[in-house]
Parts: sequence; C-alpha cells; structure tokens
Amino acid sequence: MGLELTRTGFVAIAGRPNVGKSTLANAIVGSKVAIISDKPQTTRRAIRGIATGEGWQLVLVDLPGVQRPRDALTMRMQRRVEHELEDADACLLVVNAEQGIGPGDRFISGSLEGATVPVVIAVNKADRADRARIAEVLTDAEALGVADEIFPVSARTGEGVSAIVEGLVSLLPEGPFYFPPEQHSDLTEQVLLAELVREQVLARTRQEVPHAVEVELQDIEHHEDLVRIEAVILVETESQKGILVGAGGRMVKTIGTAARRVLEGELGRRVHLALSVRVRRHWRADEHLLDRLGIE
Ligand code: GDP
Ligand code: MG
Repeated sequence: MGLELTRTGFVAIAGRPNVGKSTLANAIVGSKVAIISDKPQTTRRAIRGIATGEGWQLVLVDLPGVQRPRDALTMRMQRRVEHELEDADACLLVVNAEQGIGPGDRFISGSLEGATVPVVIAVNKADRADRARIAEVLTDAEALGVADEIFPVSARTGEGVSAIVEGLVSLLPEGPFYFPPEQHSDLTEQVLLAELVREQVLARTRQEVPHAVEVELQDIEHHEDLVRIEAVILVETESQKGILVGAGGRMVKTIGTAARRVLEGELGRRVHLALSVRVRRHWRADEHLLDRLGIE
C-alpha cells in the first residue's frame, strides 16, 4: 500500500539575473523546462519544474527577476515574486561564486528576511572559482544571515546538484505528491513551444531587442508524421522588426531553421514551422495580450 512517507513542496528560486537560476532548475529537474540565455530578464513567467525522486517531489518556481516597476510587465513580475514566496515551502537563493556576494544579493536576501520558509543558498558556478574563492563566498553567504543551509554547486557540470536536492528535501514538509512522477513541467504545450522559439531569437539578438521580443503560437496541428506550427515573433518597433527579418529575410530564416530543429527534438516528429515577425507597439503594456500569452 502507498503508506511510505513522502516529502513534497514548492521551492521558490530567487537570485540576481544571470546567476544561473534557470540552469540550476533544469539541472535539478533533469530536463529542459525553463529557457536559458545570457540576457537578463529571460524568464518572464514563474515556470515550475517538477523533480521527483525516491520519496520526494520538488516543485520549482523560477522567479522572474526583482526589478523596479517600470511598466505593466515588470509590475506583474514583481507581484508574482511576492505571491510565489508566500506560497512556497522553501526558498532557494542562488548566488554566483565567480562574482561573489554583492549589493544585489543583499537586496534580495533582505527581502527574504521576513519569510517564514527555510532558505537554502546555492553558491553556483563553482566550476568558475577555485577552492579559496568558494570558501570565501560560502562565508559571505553565511553572513547574509538568512540561510538554513549553504551548498557550492555547478549547475553547468552538475556537481553538487544532488547534495542540494537532498538539503532541500530534508527541509520540506511531509505530504503527498502534487504531480505524477513523470511530469516535469506545468507549462501548456503552446507556451513551452513558444518559449523554445523565443530562446532561438534571444540567442541571435543583442541589446534592447531581446527584451522587446515575445513569441506567440498562432496555430498547432498534429498530423500523423508531421506537426504544423504557425508562430509570430512580436516586436515593438519597425527597426526591431527590420533586425529580426534581416537582409533578404535571412535572419528570420536562420531563426526559423534553428527553432524547427529544437521543436522537432521536443516533439519527436517532423515540424513544419511558419514563422513571421510582426510589430505590436507597446505589447509589454498591453494587459490583454499579457493575459493571452500566459504572463500572469
Ligand atoms: P538566470 O538568469 O539566473 O536564470 O541565469 P541562467 O540560468 O539563464 O544562466 C545565465 C548564464 O550563466 C547562462 O549563460 C548559463 O549557461 C550560465 N551558467 C549557469 N550556471 C552555470 C554554472 O554552474 N557554471 C557556469 N560556468 N555557467 C553557468
Ligand atoms: Mg532565468
């Protein structure tokens, strides 16, 4: 009978942009759930990765970056951060071993001081720091005064990931699983596929363009040996559109080819991708559009 004890809970991942929150979530889950890039503000949605092991389940919430409210989008992101922390069973604060603890980390850890949930600090990118440096950052992390446990880890190489999972699990309450063990994400297929396309756009754009891009899946048709997908890259200005279309349409073609390969890998089937670029001014301030894109 299913009377064995299980520990389960929601773990909110906090940390400055680019410290490796998404990469670490992916390493814990073991499959791709959040998109990764070297551009800040990649993660707009609180994407849950679900990791299940012998007697435990971690539901990871990849928090959007904490920022000064500027427009409707960043305000939603900020509200989301607060809500996710209220609902969490533990918080995983990620810092960067290479850069050490700075004002940004202190700001975020300050916002966790009042939290009633246990806090675990991951000193990530340990592959980029030597022993002495890691020891120093571990001490500085301790001095933040919020952590129940602190672990050095490399989300990239996987070193230390199982220790951090064990540490988190030990802090979780006992309870039944929230999701079936085989489930890794709660994103709808529509949103997940759109995110995979957006990742390909981010990999090929610079400066203000990444922040101005959203991808909307217009249509998806599953055929026996083929999936037809129609997607639109939304940008805010004609000049951004010009960049993404590229000379003679070369840029959008390159993005489309790369995205098609990734989608084929994800769906395990041949994909026909119709990709276009459209200007939608101020989409970031458009509450209706944000609703439709699933950005809460
Ligand atoms: P986030 O903004 O905190 O979610 O950061 P991401 O997960 O998107 O990672 C930002 C960048 O850091 C990406 O280029 C990652 O490949 C890189 N990165 C993440 N974790 C590690 C790590 O453990 N070691 C190294 N060397 N790079 C990492
Ligand atoms: Mg991220």
